[in-house]
Amino acid sequence: MVEGHGLILSPGFIDVHTHDDTNVVRQPDMTPKLSQGVTTVIVGNCGISAAPVKLSGDPPDPMNLLGHADAFCYPDFRSYVQAVDAAQPAVNVAALVGHTALRSNHMDRFDRAATPAEIAAMRAQLEEALQHGALGLSTGLAYANAFSAPTEEVLALAEPLAHAGALYATHLRSEFAEILDAMDEAFRIGRHARVPVVISHLKCAGVPNWGRSTEVLDALDAAQRWQPVGCDCYPYTASSSTLDLKQVTSDFDIMVTWSEGAPEMGGRLLADIAAEWQVDLHEPRAADAGRCRLPLHGRRRRGPYPEPSCDGSGL
Ligand SMILES: [Zn+2]
Repeated sequence: MVEGHGLILSPGFIDVHTHDDTNVVRQPDMTPKLSQGVTTVIVGNCGISAAPVKLSGDPPDPMNLLGHADAFCYPDFRSYVQAVDAAQPAVNVAALVGHTALRSNHMDRFDRAATPAEIAAMRAQLEEALQHGALGLSTGLAYANAFSAPTEEVLALAEPLAHAGALYATHLRSEFAEILDAMDEAFRIGRHARVPVVISHLKCAGVPNWGRSTEVLDALDAAQRWQPVGCDCYPYTASSSTLDLKQVTSDFDIMVTWSEGAPEMGGRLLADIAAEWQVDLHEPRAADAGRCRLPLHGRRRRGPYPEPSCDGSGL
């Protein structure tokens, strides 16, 4: 018997946006999630997934969020499912297949569109994954290693999703000034593939973009009249990813959370490191830092929005 007065009884939470792909195998106790009440994680977001992946060197950015090269040992989705089953993680796991991961399997460079033959090879791997229970396809079109993929590449890749009852999740091509165009692109892909669209960690990024949430949420509402679309958002006023010099600005603080090149800088502000090293914020040396957090000081969005899922980002 538990005295429940003043407490809340809840089912386990689903963290719909994580990068726990390799964590669920390597640290199956998943204490960081379970301790917050999370009992299901969705992995494979933002175009990066642990499977199906066959690397020919170090994982390309931002696949390095999932671990070093030795963490990528699932050349097909089935082998990843078997590894998760064998690890018996303390949370349920559902996985998306990452577009950038597929590109990395079949393309010699990322700064171009995939050829029809490469798209066919990527589609075959996606179909294998869908047959073995993958939840859908994710993209991270804002990242340099996916940005050169035209919409047509994703349209072709998304075609097998509907047959499997799968969905399309996307880290938009832009969360900055072009966010509405990026949302239109995502909605177009969903309509073409006839599948639901999930916009990952929806936000108005960049100081000049703050205050536009009404416009952005109105666009989401408008699309919902025609097709199933949704979004998730962070439960905190910060964001985190790899350190991308294109997004470095002095408008707000950037904290380096870890660094391969200078591990002693973990936990310090990028501006302080740059001052100490007497380099510009955009100096490549500062980019040795591997991951950053960008506190968001923006205005709050228009009133509560009823439907976003919660995005833990799993970093
Ligand atoms: Zn993302």
